[in-house]
This record gives sequence, C-alpha cells and structure tokens, in this order.
Amino acid sequence: MFEGPLQDLIDELSRLPGVGPKSAQRIAFHLLNVDPSDITRLQEALGGVRDGVQFCRICCNISREEVCRICSDSGRDGGTICVVEEPKDIQVIERTGEFSGRYHVLGGALDPLANIGPRELNISTLLQRIGGVLPDRELADSTPENKLFDATPTVREVILATDPNTEGEATAAYLGRLLKDFPDLVISRLASGMPLGGDLEFVDELTLSRALSGRLQI
Ligand code: ZN
Repeated sequence: MFEGPLQDLIDELSRLPGVGPKSAQRIAFHLLNVDPSDITRLQEALGGVRDGVQFCRICCNISREEVCRICSDSGRDGGTICVVEEPKDIQVIERTGEFSGRYHVLGGALDPLANIGPRELNISTLLQRIGGVLPDRELADSTPENKLFDATPTVREVILATDPNTEGEATAAYLGRLLKDFPDLVISRLASGMPLGGDLEFVDELTLSRALSGRLQI
C-alpha cells in the first residue's frame, strides 16, 4: 500500500476489467513519470467518454454523430443486417473485410440469471428496421415513441452473429423465432467452425471470415 493520490489511482485502475493489482500498480507508476501533456490528453479522453459517447439511433452502435459512420455510408448494403451483441463485435467483423452490409447492436445477450430479457436488449429497434411493424405486443409497448425511424431500405437478410456461447445461442434462437414472422426474410447464423463457448471477440479473422461466408440459413 502506498499513501495518498498514488494509491487512489491504483485502487481506481484495479477496478477496471482485465486490470489486476499488479498491472494497476505498473500503470500508476508509469503515469507518475509521463509528460504532463500526456496526462492532460488522458484526462480529456476520460472526460470525453463520460460526456460525448452516444449511440447510433439506427443500429445502436457507439457513434460520434446521431447516425453512425456505417449507417450513413450509402456504399453499404442496407438490405443485410448483421446482429451482434456488443459494439466491439463490429470491429472484429469489419477486420475480416468480408461483410459490406450494416449492423445492429443488441447491447448484450439474453441471460435469465442476470435478469436480462428481450426488453433489456435493442430488439424492438431491430424489428422496426426490418419491417416497421412490431409482431411482439410486449416489445411494442416498451418501445419509446421517440425511437421511431425514418424509412430504411428493405431488409432481405438478417445474420445472427451473437457469441457462440450459451447466452449467445439462446439469443440467436429467440431472434430466429421472432423473425420468422417476417415473410421473405432470410435469417442466417454464423457457420460452424466457431469455437463453442467462446466470445466473438476472440475468434481469429480467418475462422470468422469463413463462418460469415458459409453462414447457414435457419
Ligand atoms: Zn448505426
């Protein structure tokens, strides 16, 4: 234990995911020796995260503007939507260079043990993008009016790219059932070859690229 602000910093850093006490100490001592301008930039970045992050009103990805870069890119196919759990999953799929459609971020996966049900995820907004109609009465009731969208291009295919673990599979199965109500909509799931029980984030690009191109209709 150290005294004063240094220990406060170590304590705060230790609370971050993936940062153990030793790493926290190493980062804190590193910051003790860096240029004051580096500290200022770090402070500004931290402040910016608190004040400046917003979510795209169409796909719920993290965005600088009201509509994110991908949703406003007319070169991308609005007819195909890849559904992912978290914004970081978009980065992973983008790195494969295999996908030129658009995304939808659920904000997590169904997890009854953690009290995360369909209402806690961005599902009603997904349904609106696909058809403008909400087949599920319960979800329709929970959709704020100010979230209604402008007309979007007709969606032909939804790729369910939730994580290949229990919660991700349950979420994909749930969405698969829900989306069956939309006639003519192709619903697909990332192909096999994905490591089971894993997190999309840790799947290598080649495997993900193959899983995407060999996706199976469900
Ligand atoms: Zn977007």
